[in-house]
Amino acid sequence: MKIIIAGAGAMGSRFALMLHQARNDVILIDGWPDHIEAIKKNGLQANLNGEHVQAEIPIYNQKAAGTVDFAADLVIVFTKVMQLDGMLQSIKPLIHAHTKVLCLLNGIGHEDIIEKYVPLDNILLGNTMWTAELEGPGKVKLFGAGGVELTNLGTAGEAGAAAVIQVLNDAQLNANYSHNIMASIYKKACINGTMNGLCTILDSNMADFGDTTVADPIVESIVGEFYQVAQAQGIPLDQEDVLAQVKACYNRETIGLHHPSMYQDLIISHRLTEIDYINGTIVRKGKEHGIATPYCLFLTQLVHAKEQLLKAK
Ligand code: NAD
Repeated sequence: MKIIIAGAGAMGSRFALMLHQARNDVILIDGWPDHIEAIKKNGLQANLNGEHVQAEIPIYNQKAAGTVDFAADLVIVFTKVMQLDGMLQSIKPLIHAHTKVLCLLNGIGHEDIIEKYVPLDNILLGNTMWTAELEGPGKVKLFGAGGVELTNLGTAGEAGAAAVIQVLNDAQLNANYSHNIMASIYKKACINGTMNGLCTILDSNMADFGDTTVADPIVESIVGEFYQVAQAQGIPLDQEDVLAQVKACYNRETIGLHHPSMYQDLIISHRLTEIDYINGTIVRKGKEHGIATPYCLFLTQLVHAKEQLLKAK
């Protein structure tokens, strides 16, 4: 399959590498000049479960995307949410009537952006439990396993996603069609909407935060706001199951000693966060439905204050 990875950071590189290794025709489009130069010069360098891998994958600057001659069957967007609209605008000339666009970004409501560029039948929306870490320009660290859940937003339904699911599975990306994707997206957003913002503001890993006496009531209040907003939209969310998943992040034996990615982005790299598309979306949707969301609002404001204090870009 001819595949464009639009946004070739940590996750874009993972998907690109695995799809390239499965012999698809993959190209990368990105906007970070140092990263583009490094990949052009040395290939994409990956630490893949402890093994060094180098892959020669063509990469283009999104500013010049209009001049790229590539009739993509599939575009996988992997920008940060704030960069999604700009990326789609840049690659608009490469999106044809048959091109599917797959979006697995964290957060809620990305379909509103993608719909401006792509008909619903060609939009595949989902989430992923794969992870990835950018070590520097051109270098990624890819450990562990994951999966992909996706749905087709158009009337074509499952049939309209079958070819993409097959290609992802041929690349060992473990994809499944979901008939209830919004519940999965909200569930993952609850984990990001608690651990990300809280550990970033508190300068803590997840286990140490979980050990504080106020962790549970804070987490329960935030998840309660997500739950009410989901309910108002008819999205079935199992609040107890979500809370159990969130609290599982405290476990020191599994992932508790990690800092969430928002911490890495903001505190370590001084980059802007996706908070507006996680807790911020709950605040906006809460207003539409007359639901008070004070915890999500306060956390969104705190993260924005931290972004400004650190002059994040
Ligand atoms: P990323 O920050 O690694 O890459 C996103 C974009 O930012 C890329 O275009 C990249 O080139 C650019 N970028 C990265 N560092 C930069 C720098 N220092 N200067 C300038 N540009 C830079 O993002 P990601 O982790 O791949 O995440 C993409 C999406 O996937 C997000 O919505 C994220 O929430 C979601 N996600 C991430 C993971 C993960 O483990 N990383 C897991 C699941 C979902």
